[in-house]
Amino acid sequence: MAETAAKKAKSDRKVALITGITGQDGSYLAELLIEKGYTSSSRPLSLCLVNGFCFVAAVQVHGIIRRSSSFNTGRIAHLFANPVTHEQNKMVLHYGDLTDSTNLVKIVMEVQPTEVYNLGAMSHVKVSFDMAEYTGNVDGLGTLRLLDALRTSGLGDSVRFYQASTSELYGKVQEIPQTEKTPFYPRSPYGVAKLYGYWIVVNYRESYGMHCNNGILFNHESPRRGAFCWPPSRLLPCHLRLVASRRRLHLIMDGRNLPVGETFVTRKITRAVAKIHLGQQESVTLGNLDASRDWGHAKDYVEMMWLMLQQDTPDDFVIATNEEHSVREFVEASFRHIGKEIVWEGEGVNEVGKEKDTGIVRVKISERYYRPAEVERLLGNPEKAKQKLGWTPKISFTELVTEMVEADIKLMRANPLA
Ligand code: NDP
Ligand code: GDP
Repeated sequence: MAETAAKKAKSDRKVALITGITGQDGSYLAELLIEKGYTSSSRPLSLCLVNGFCFVAAVQVHGIIRRSSSFNTGRIAHLFANPVTHEQNKMVLHYGDLTDSTNLVKIVMEVQPTEVYNLGAMSHVKVSFDMAEYTGNVDGLGTLRLLDALRTSGLGDSVRFYQASTSELYGKVQEIPQTEKTPFYPRSPYGVAKLYGYWIVVNYRESYGMHCNNGILFNHESPRRGAFCWPPSRLLPCHLRLVASRRRLHLIMDGRNLPVGETFVTRKITRAVAKIHLGQQESVTLGNLDASRDWGHAKDYVEMMWLMLQQDTPDDFVIATNEEHSVREFVEASFRHIGKEIVWEGEGVNEVGKEKDTGIVRVKISERYYRPAEVERLLGNPEKAKQKLGWTPKISFTELVTEMVEADIKLMRANPLA
């Protein structure tokens, strides 16, 4: 009887381990899981030592964070600030890294997760051309290390595993819209590393019967989308030089000039629109305006990650909105929100200029933001997820743009240096 109760308690346990919890998706996912009340129904899960007192904690969500010389928990700080989360010890962070197998085994043994969400990655396509080997190590081999840590720890039969796969696997257009059956043709070191991640997940499912799932997510954004190119503290000093010009910081790497603070195109646009609206900025530079993406909202997409792990059978799913917009359209929608008209200007000009008080904004293009190999079009067909998971995105393109522009206006108004 006692044994059956113990078994049931074990099977009812909901303990999530999230790699990349400090990232955009990790932060939304942690919120979602805490909201869902991840807990052991009857038995507490782990012993914690806090201020010299040993107590049994109902820990629900565990996250792996990297040691950093600067603050990297900004996106989850509000979860700690919430007394309920904090006092009830619902979220616990562990130092770790996807490049460190020993550390992963230790964390997995300690946490005994029932669900693992592998969101940790060097996630920037353009940066992956500069840091190809590192990207392969983290995004490709890191996935293998984590899967193997789970098997080594004897969790292979019980754990459910979510892999953050990506539409970048499709790369060069083979078919539009892209489905789970569309052939892959990655176009960046990031895409190639994620291809390894995708297949090792399938392989562990087929070889060892593990509940391993790939979410092939198309681009998803939010006000929490990454806003920094790469924290300079993580680069070797001999490769970088920081200079201030026109009141902005620039990172000089391998002789090339990368402005710090500009990253994924959506957030780069909404930050610039906010600053132009507030009169804080007069210039920003964009690359290929004709590339198009299927942009969704990160909040919608993390719900699907959770849904995938609640299914009896593991599988791979395309998660997308089935709506395509060019970068140009994203720019237009953003400026429309603040009532500005755009005048487009040709290649080779390095500025987006605002003609003061005319209500007109000039948008210009630089080769600097073009990639060595471009992914021109991504449009996903999420029919399988709709049918099998009952999932549909709730937030529209216009709502996404509006939320991002509004959030950046609020941010820049409060802190012009943000
Ligand atoms: P972010 O870049 O916002 O977050 C990445 C996370 O990974 C951060 O927490 C980062 O830590 C962590 N990380 C980086 N390197 C390592 C490492 N070596 N070991 C452990 N953790 C590490 O990405 P998103 O939240 O946007 O994306 C989540 C996942 O989904 C990623 O794997 C991404 O590639 C994938 N994806 C994202 C899409 C999107 O449109 N957002 C589309 C498809 C897939 P730190 O904060 O310290 O840098
Ligand atoms: P990605 O789809 O993961 O590469 O997401 P990004 O937001 O980085 O880029 C989306 C598309 O926008 C790509 O096709 C880029 O070439 C294009 N793009 C155009 N201008 C820029 C820019 O200034 N910065 C970035 N990051 N992308 C740009």
